[in-house]
Parts: sequence; C-alpha cells; structure tokens
Amino acid sequence: MSDNRPIVAVVGRPNVGKSTLFNKLAGKRISIVEDTPGVTRDRIFTEVEWLNRYFTLIDTGGIEPENGDIILSHMRNQAMLAMDMAHIVLFVVDGKSGLTPADREVAQILRKTNKPVILVVNKIDSQSQFDNVYDFYELGLGVPYAISSANSMGLGDLLDEVIQNFPEGLNTEYDEDIIRVAITGKPNAGKSSILNNILGEERVIVSPIAGTTRDAVDTYVEKNGQKFLLIDTAGLRRKSKIYESVEKYSVIRSMAAVDRADVVLIVIDAAEGITEQDTKVAGIAHDEGKACVFVVNKWDLIEKDNKTLGNYTKDIKEKFPFMMYAPVVFVSAKTNQRMSKVLEVAEYVASEHAKRVSTSALNDVIGEAVMLNQPPSDKGKRLKIYYGSQTGVKPPKFTLFINDKKLTHFSYQRYLENKIRENFGFEGTPVQFEYREKN
Ligand code: GDP
Ligand code: GDP
Repeated sequence: MSDNRPIVAVVGRPNVGKSTLFNKLAGKRISIVEDTPGVTRDRIFTEVEWLNRYFTLIDTGGIEPENGDIILSHMRNQAMLAMDMAHIVLFVVDGKSGLTPADREVAQILRKTNKPVILVVNKIDSQSQFDNVYDFYELGLGVPYAISSANSMGLGDLLDEVIQNFPEGLNTEYDEDIIRVAITGKPNAGKSSILNNILGEERVIVSPIAGTTRDAVDTYVEKNGQKFLLIDTAGLRRKSKIYESVEKYSVIRSMAAVDRADVVLIVIDAAEGITEQDTKVAGIAHDEGKACVFVVNKWDLIEKDNKTLGNYTKDIKEKFPFMMYAPVVFVSAKTNQRMSKVLEVAEYVASEHAKRVSTSALNDVIGEAVMLNQPPSDKGKRLKIYYGSQTGVKPPKFTLFINDKKLTHFSYQRYLENKIRENFGFEGTPVQFEYREKN
C-alpha cells in the first residue's frame, strides 16, 4: 500500500476566485509575517478534511509567474504543473464573466490528462445566475459544478465529488500517534541518502512505491516503539523535466512536505554551507509553527579540529537568529556517523512541540519575569500582564491577558519567550503569543 495523501490542485485564470475557494476549503487563513526571508504572502498548500478524509490542496494561482512570463504561458505552466503533481485537478472558471479564450486554452491542455478534472464554475452567487453555467459544457470536461466561493455555496457537493475521485491506494486518514517528519533541503544535500540510511537501520512498516507523478514519497518506520512517517521531497526532482531545473519548484515541493509535517529536518550540505533555499524553507517551517532540526550532512567531508563543530553551530545560529531554538545535528549518511541521532532528536522536538505546561507553573514564571524586568510603558502607562495560559500545542501558543495591546513590545515578548524556554524548554519548536485585553 502506498501511503501518500491525495493531492488536489486548483487551476484557472487570474481573478476567477481560486484563492477565495482555497481559503474557504482551508477553513482558516493564517497570516504570515512579511519580514521573514523568502516567505510568500499566501499559502499555496493546505490540508483539507472532508467527512474525515484528508487531502492536500494546492493553489497554483499562488505560484508566481517568472519575470516576463505572460499570463497565458504562465497558465499553461500552472496547468501542467497541476497535472504533474496532483491526483485531481479542479479547473475553476468565472460564471460571471463567462467563457474566455484562456479558459478554452487551459481546457485543451487538461483534456489530455487521464487524471480526473473537475470543472468548477465559480461566482454563481444565486439561483438566478445558474443559466450562466451551461456555456461551460462546451469545454468538454463533463458536468460543471456551480459554486459560490464567496458565499460558501455548492462546496459540499464539490467536496463529495472530489473525494469520490480519489485514486485507489492513497491514504486519507490521520493518525495522531505518528510523528510526521519532512526531509527538506536543497538538491544534493543528501536527503535521499539520509532517508535510505534510516530505512536501512529501522523497521520499515510500509515501503515506498516508486512514484511517477506524486509529490512526495512517504514511508512509515518504527524506532523504539515510536512510529514515524518520513515525507521525502527528494524523489520529486527526477520526475519532471520541465521543472526540475527550477529551484523555485523544489521550494514549492518542500513547502508541501512542510505543510504536512510535525517536524522539519533542514538538511544542509556541510561542504557547501547554508544556501538561500535553506533560509527560505527554514523561514516557512518557522512561520508555519513546525518543530525544526538542522541536520548538517556530509560531516565526513569536513576537516575538523576541536573548534569546528562549535563554530559551525554558531554560524547556523547567526544565520537563523529567529530559530535559536532549533537543535543542530552533524551527521554523515555515508559513514553512518551519528545517524541514529536523527530520529531520536526528531522524536524529542516532536514531544516539545506537543508539550503543555500548567497555567499555575506558567504564571509563576511570568510573575517572576515581570518582577525581574518591568514591562514596557508608554506616556506613563505601563503594560500589565494579569495572567497567561497555554492555549495551544503544535506549536505551543500562549495567550496573555493584559491591559492594553498598544503597550506590547516585541523585545519584551522575546524576553518572556526566553524565560519560558529557560523554565520549560520547548526545544526545537517555535512558540507563539497572543494578547487579549481585559479590564
Ligand atoms: P484568483 O486570482 O483566481 O485567486 O481569484 P481571487 O480569489 O483573488 O478572487 C478574485 C475576485 O473575485 C475577488 O474580488 C473575489 O472577492 C471575487 N470572488 C471570488 N469568489 C467569488 C464568488 O463566489 N462570487 C463573487 N461574486 N465574487 C467572488
Ligand atoms: P538529495 O538530492 O538531497 O536527495 O541528495 P542525495 O542523497 O542524492 O546525495 C547527493 C550526493 O551526495 C550523492 O552523490 C551522495 O552520495 C552524496 N552524499 C550524501 N550524503 C553524503 C555524506 O554524508 N557524505 C558524503 N561524502 N557524500 C554524501
């Protein structure tokens, strides 16, 4: 049995409502801090649940065109990328503006795939607009599904159709006890070697089946009674001649893996050092609240003295100042050096990622922190923290009840974060803060 999640891609020309549909199906919109390096504004991937079945949704509209790429060729690329990566394609058209030449063009490409294509006519906001749907039959893609993303109409029927079209043999279930680990990093960093090394050492529960069109190859392994799902992004490269040269697509694929993971291994080639792509993926993993481990591979290639390891660690901490919490392991997939540590550390940071501290213990720490270092004030008014509570896990999230949000300050939040980490650890995981005013 293969263990891949079904992948559903949304394609269509600009402004038909792809991202509105994506956000509706995703159910929540997470805003991403813009000053983090390499982070795109919107998410391209999300996990969707319908009737207890899970799949990955991709918004191809979120994939920016290359410079100078005109819309039509960009759309062709998106359609091809979707057919390549996804198991099911949702082709979205605009029921208000009607059929356009660009729609015909994309339909022509999509008709060539043997994967299910579902034609979705969006912006049918009321019954009276339903007549607009008939025009789209001429695209030759079967019965159109009329929806209104804005008003959330027709989405249930559409999702029913989607899950009925899932190919056999994919996994749509969610098992809480499994630690999901994404192995990311630039091409040639040694991701496949690390995966193969782990598969050679640990008990493989389900073997990967060589994929032709899938986005990531998943494998279950078990170590000391703990199950892991290893999400490999390396296998992807081989697949598509069109995209393999484009670094951006390898970042996109990493993002799909990160989205599904609890723990992200950022594999760095020791000989080459940290690259821009590593910074991008790390920034995404951090923003998405995933536990992270830096795995510096090919350590056998480095000439070492007693300072090398310390200096390398320092270098990583300097390049990723927003991720001081992430542990660094130095391995060689080739010589097997420290490879047994990889899943051990992954398991450890996964437990930190899921950890909960009691409200009373948390407030002891906050109270002491406030006594040692007063909260900031502005124009004679001081920030008051009444109490705090951990309101989330994966990643840990703290809600602080305060007098006035305008008085909060990033540097004070960083101070509290450090105090919380000193006392409770939370190693390997980002933590998030939220403020509520209370009078
Ligand atoms: P994308 O470029 O395909 O991702 O399109 P967007 O999701 O950004 O939507 C383009 C515009 O269409 C926005 O102004 C949306 O508010 C609007 N829109 C999206 N869905 C609907 C819908 O169901 N009905 C109506 N009337 N407008 C919609
Ligand atoms: P991927 O593209 O990230 O999956 O990288 P691969 O696993 O395919 O490895 C790329 C190259 O690096 C291959 O030639 C591997 O043999 C080599 N490689 C991988 N791990 C190590 C290592 O720990 N030490 C050395 N010296 N070479 C390695």
